[in-house]
Amino acid sequence: MTTKHQGSCLCGEVSFEIQGEAIRFRHCHCKRCRKSTGTGHASNLLIKSEGITWIKGVDNQGAYTVPESKHFTRHFCTTCGSPLPSEIESMGAVLIPAGLLDTEPVMQPQSRIFQNSRASWSCYGDGLPCFDEYPD
Ligand SMILES: [Zn+2]
Ligand SMILES: [Zn+2]
Repeated sequence: MTTKHQGSCLCGEVSFEIQGEAIRFRHCHCKRCRKSTGTGHASNLLIKSEGITWIKGVDNQGAYTVPESKHFTRHFCTTCGSPLPSEIESMGAVLIPAGLLDTEPVMQPQSRIFQNSRASWSCYGDGLPCFDEYPD
């Protein structure tokens, strides 16, 4: 049941491995995700904290926490600026930007969230359940 995936940033200075089943996989259209990715939405997998192993580049990471937020910290490679996995301590989980994976994740996206913040040009219409904020 254990599936392993490798992930890395754009320049390859940071790499990691994840294992175990993903808790969830969502496209998030919130404003913070739009700003931090520069695109229409973020696509993030959530896994348990113990599921990540850093292979290299632990010291090559910067972090920015949105001042008015409890959870929103953007980790990034200090060489190339790619977003990196972020630990969410209160949840015992790690958010994995799906685009970092070098192998195909087993789980497919489940939903689109924060549709109330969605940019009008952002992709849409693939039949995934949509929510204005977090689903219950
Ligand atoms: Zn990099
Ligand atoms: Zn978001």
